[in-house]
Amino acid sequence: MKPLAEARDEVLAAVHPLPVVEVLLEDARGLALAEDVVATEDVPPFDNSAMDGFAVQRADLNSVPVVLPILEDVPAGSVPSQPLTSGSVIKIMTGAPLPEGADTVVKVEDTSPVGTTEVQISAAPDLGTAVRRAGGDVKRGTTVFTAGTRLSSTHLSVLASLGVAKPLVRRRPVVAYMTTGDELVPASTATLRPGQIRDANTHTVGAILDELGVEGINIGAIGDDADELREALSSAADQADIIITTGGVSMGEYDLVKQVLTELGGVEFWKVAMQPGKPFAFGRIAGTPLFGLPGNPVSVMVAFEQFARPALLKMMGSSALLRPRLRARLEREVSTNPEKIVFLRVALRHDGDVLTCDLSGGQDSNVLSALASANGLAVVPFGTGHVAAGEFVDVEILRLDDQ
Ligand code: AMP
Ligand code: MG
Repeated sequence: MKPLAEARDEVLAAVHPLPVVEVLLEDARGLALAEDVVATEDVPPFDNSAMDGFAVQRADLNSVPVVLPILEDVPAGSVPSQPLTSGSVIKIMTGAPLPEGADTVVKVEDTSPVGTTEVQISAAPDLGTAVRRAGGDVKRGTTVFTAGTRLSSTHLSVLASLGVAKPLVRRRPVVAYMTTGDELVPASTATLRPGQIRDANTHTVGAILDELGVEGINIGAIGDDADELREALSSAADQADIIITTGGVSMGEYDLVKQVLTELGGVEFWKVAMQPGKPFAFGRIAGTPLFGLPGNPVSVMVAFEQFARPALLKMMGSSALLRPRLRARLEREVSTNPEKIVFLRVALRHDGDVLTCDLSGGQDSNVLSALASANGLAVVPFGTGHVAAGEFVDVEILRLDDQ
């Protein structure tokens, strides 16, 4: 059995960043920048008002209330036609350019109209209040994001405001995935015949790929038949950058993925000293890397996390390949196999200032319900075998939104 770190290094050495392409912002979410983004403009591009109110010279408000004449109105999208002169105000809306000569904005709530041409100002805010300076958010020339940053909605927002409408990114990987097993029927099957189970893995893999920003091609559920599998794998290799299979990589007579993989391309390794996810085959079909994940849904998810996710992120050019880890206090004693690195499905919680975690349910690799309620994978390192209640462990963070 290969240690996890060695197996992952081999996988990572076998995949390479995909070509650089220019994409529209609307197609860029989840992809990683292929170059640093340097601001060629200030954001905001001009001094403007942070409030609906009146642009003033602060020196005119030394004794309030004061009534001052309104020179003009400046809505957002317009520009003032004149500078602000001492002893007068210009009505201004949020986001409208600050008139030359103005140094402060008084919000509308601190004013009241006097006829149609004058306003009474009843508060004297500090000099510079409610003024947003040009470049106050991003200064021209600043490196805003570095190559390898994966673009989330907020990154896209910054790029849009800078006028970077077609960022350079690494192309989106295409992954062909399939499940294997004669026992599998679609999730929509109302009544199971004896021996049948509903296919969970198609949905797990499809959704994980989608969350990662990878394009998935569902090849389908393949029976335990060497010819059918051979054909499906060859077709997958023609269409995709990566192939992912689930099931059929253990020791059983019907575990054909490894056998067909050996025939068609070659198995680079098989069996990793980890739990769950030990039977894991990595190889190539006609040059296309194949991740042969185990069949049990929990093992699928854990093996995907440890191998396929970092490999896909490397292909995307992401600077971060691994999940962030946090230290958390394990709430109960756990004994594991010391010959393996063990990933416990845990739920993270706060106990006062301390981050704690507890098993989210049964830890057998077929127990899906414990996976669904877990938001982290606690790591029991190789050679450890035992964690006492109250000991701190590393937890790979899967999600934080439901912590
Ligand atoms: P295998 O590695 O093919 O022997 O599969 C291991 C276990 O995972 C068996 O109990 C399978 O029935 C189960 N399994 C395989 N594929 C799926 C799937 N797509 N959805 C749910 N369970 C599966
Ligand atoms: Mg099977």
